[in-house]
Amino acid sequence: MGDLLVVGSVALDSVETPFGKVHDVLGGSATYFSYAASFFTQVRLVATVGEDFPEAHLRLLQDRGVDLDGLTTSRGRTFRWAGQYSYDLNEAKTLDTQLNVFADFRPSLGDGLRRAPFVFLANIDPELQLDVLRQMEARPRLVALDTMNFWIQGKQEALRRVLAESDVVTINDAEARQLASEPNLVRAARAIAAIGPRTVVVKRGEYGALMMTDGAFFFVPAYPLESVYDPTGAGDTFAGGFMGYLAAQERTDAAAMRRALVYGSVMASFTVEDFSLKRLTRLGPADIADRYAAFHDLIRLEQ
Ligand code: AMP
Repeated sequence: MGDLLVVGSVALDSVETPFGKVHDVLGGSATYFSYAASFFTQVRLVATVGEDFPEAHLRLLQDRGVDLDGLTTSRGRTFRWAGQYSYDLNEAKTLDTQLNVFADFRPSLGDGLRRAPFVFLANIDPELQLDVLRQMEARPRLVALDTMNFWIQGKQEALRRVLAESDVVTINDAEARQLASEPNLVRAARAIAAIGPRTVVVKRGEYGALMMTDGAFFFVPAYPLESVYDPTGAGDTFAGGFMGYLAAQERTDAAAMRRALVYGSVMASFTVEDFSLKRLTRLGPADIADRYAAFHDLIRLEQ
């Protein structure tokens, strides 16, 4: 079982969907990622929160065995994100992003963190993602990265630098088109791979996830759910399942990546069933195994 290091946001989110509204609830790319990946492997989280961050949220991650040695409390307010979804739950509209304590956060990795073989650079300022990579003692076996329109617009140069040093990128379809300046997703995936990563995973919300590794494609549909309440965190939980599985297996080959894509889809399918991390906190290993089996039935060709 390989250690999995993650840097990203730990946040308080305010979210509105056609099915409800929540204010200052637990969120953040690294939070969703860590929680999901903790079902598979040892996760070590690097991030910062403000003095206003509730203790109970930290306990939630601790209870899952997530190592919080790299999580600091800075003076000031926790990162905040506000978003809204219309009936088309595939696209989040950002209403507000407050970097707060992340505005001048510089992570400092302790000894135990510098040798992690699996690294996930969750959605956060690409300068911070680079900062973490610079501190690694040896080249990790697998570096994966996620990002979003906010950074594609605001920090594209730094983002391209960190992409050049990554093995895998997970990105949603609209952002892939934006980053590649290319409307066709196949061409966009190739253009993004040309920046550096061998593997490009394009997340397509309810339409599934498309993976391109060394130019070859693999596709997994989203699990057909009757009730989707809040898609926030789907992308990060997807990445948590994907990377968590690979780290647990200590594999990075194409066959393992295919299964990882299914585990990512399994984890994402739970997140969207409730607001914040609510559904994930009711999850057990048997639920994950059952849904993996259901996915198998869903995509199997022979009866
Ligand atoms: P997703 O998995 O793509 O739905 O990501 C949702 C999470 O991303 C939310 O919980 C937010 O707190 C977080 N987030 C939103 N905008 C940013 C940003 N600019 N940088 C880092 N994290 C963000």
